[in-house]
Amino acid sequence: MSRPDGGPGERLGIFGGTFDPPHVGHLVTAVNVRHELALDRVLLVVNDQPWQKLGTRDISPAEDRHAMVAAAVGSVEGLEASRVEIERGGMSYTADTLATLLAEDPGRELYVILGSDAAAGLPSWERADEVRSLATIVVVERPGARGAEPPAGWSWQRVEVPRLEVSSTELRARVADGRPLDYLLTPDVIATIEARGLYGARVGS
Ligand code: ATP
Ligand code: MG
Repeated sequence: MSRPDGGPGERLGIFGGTFDPPHVGHLVTAVNVRHELALDRVLLVVNDQPWQKLGTRDISPAEDRHAMVAAAVGSVEGLEASRVEIERGGMSYTADTLATLLAEDPGRELYVILGSDAAAGLPSWERADEVRSLATIVVVERPGARGAEPPAGWSWQRVEVPRLEVSSTELRARVADGRPLDYLLTPDVIATIEARGLYGARVGS
């Protein structure tokens, strides 16, 4: 795609998630996909209501998760916390997010970044055909799920990133147990968790 003025369109990565909390696995992924694909920016798009997780556990308020993502990306070049799904509200469907981002700038090229654990499930996404036609899928390798691929008919590519065996689920348990978070979460994310008392955090623990 190109801009109406003939210049190249912005290459924009979309890395969606619950980010409850955002951890080094997310950040290493975003930074390395941006580098490998020469993306201008990667948006960490905070789900408002993650339809795949509703009913499975308590999910922290979207504003708390957004505050953690903003803290996580800090001033890292090319990474941004996005409020687009929070502002829309309701179920967070990638098809809607892509439409919003293209309405802002039709010349953009969109890259939807996924862990390989999520790749095989793409056809079950809301209006999957719209996602397929509006974006290229970027599958990053994730521990424990190597090899999962989008089905035939999708435009996609694989990017290898350093594999960090960490998940938000494990980190929530660590906070609740008072185990160390250092080097798994950025210092500013740890401070945000403590300041907001998330996951049963005790200040100074
Ligand atoms: P939870 O344990 O609550 O499911 P999570 O750590 O999987 O959390 P999500 O917010 O569900 O984090 O993930 C957002 C995106 O990040 C998904 O595409 C997921 O595949 C990817 N992802 C999660 N953990 C990692 C990791 N360690 N390395 C690379 N990608 C990851
Ligand atoms: Mg997950």
